[in-house]
Amino acid sequence: MLELLWLLLPVAAASGWWVARREYTGRRRRTTVRNAEYFKGLNYLIEDKPDQAIEVFTRMAGVDRNTAEIHLALGNLFRRRGEVDRAIHVHANLITRSSLTAEQRRRAMLELGEDYLRAGLFDRAEELFRELVEQPDHTQVALARLIHIFQQEKDWRQAITHCDRLKEIGGESKQRETAHFCCELAEEAAAGGQDEEARSWLREALTRDPDCARANLLLGRLAMRAGDYRAAIVAFQAVERQDRGYFPEVIKPLSSCYDALGQLDQWGAYLREVQQRDHGGRITDALVDWLLRQEGEEAAFRFLERELQEYPTLLGLRRLVEIQLGRGMGAGYADLHVLHCVSAQMLNSAARYRCANCGFIVKSLPWCCPSCQQWNTIKPMPDLVMKTSG
Ligand SMILES: [Zn+2]
Repeated sequence: MLELLWLLLPVAAASGWWVARREYTGRRRRTTVRNAEYFKGLNYLIEDKPDQAIEVFTRMAGVDRNTAEIHLALGNLFRRRGEVDRAIHVHANLITRSSLTAEQRRRAMLELGEDYLRAGLFDRAEELFRELVEQPDHTQVALARLIHIFQQEKDWRQAITHCDRLKEIGGESKQRETAHFCCELAEEAAAGGQDEEARSWLREALTRDPDCARANLLLGRLAMRAGDYRAAIVAFQAVERQDRGYFPEVIKPLSSCYDALGQLDQWGAYLREVQQRDHGGRITDALVDWLLRQEGEEAAFRFLERELQEYPTLLGLRRLVEIQLGRGMGAGYADLHVLHCVSAQMLNSAARYRCANCGFIVKSLPWCCPSCQQWNTIKPMPDLVMKTSG
């Protein structure tokens, strides 16, 4: 009997080997099939066919419930296709699994945070990103997302703190953005009558970004409100040196300041100085106003004739026609009335501001572009008309 058992041993070993081999072959076949499906899904992604990719990954997720990568990919695809609820469902389920590695859990948290952001659930997204910010591999991304959330919530202090932390760890320096956050805080303080606090925020803005024209624009307005027209002129003139594109924003208040001080000669001299650098329509327009007031209609007319030959602008053209009509030229030239109407309509319907980053056009000035979310990219549109050759 014992001999018989000894005889059976090789058979048992052989059968064990055969079973193991069968399992190995089956496993390998399943793995091969899974890999093939996975690459099929990836190919769909590369070919920008998210619907087909979702189909493949959903099928895979149904068969293989343990593969985190597939669920991550599937959730991301749902989010990309705008199905945020389904993306949240996939990523939230994934996080609850005990089989995940620590890194897989953090990636799932990151993706779930993105889903919440897309859904506008900022408090939930903030909670996840605050946890992730403490994980060295994800700190930069989590900080960037938190800064985005604090901007949406207009929590400017938190936005500044997190921008500073991002810079500390060697991330992107957001000096332009933080200067604008300081300006936002200054505007809030000024609206509440706290002018000194507002000035303090504006000085902080200029420390962070010496080119922040908005800070000087606001400093000028605060100085005007306090009746300190000299200080207002200094601040408004700084805007032109910092960023000439914003100069049209300060022409009117500057004119009022010089007027209040009775210094119209200085105003004229300053305008002529700026005009050496910039022949935009709004500067021409301001100079015409000054000439009409100080030197009379003939001087304004002669100036416009010369200026428009070299630097034609729609605004300048309208002023020229207005002066001619005012001098009684309209009776002899019916076309002048038509020209005046057309130029006035064109100026009224023209958008005044455009984002240099994405081309978004708007009629009033937002400091953060509603389309591309960039700060300081929306500026007054130049109205210099291009001359045709010959
Ligand atoms: Zn934009």
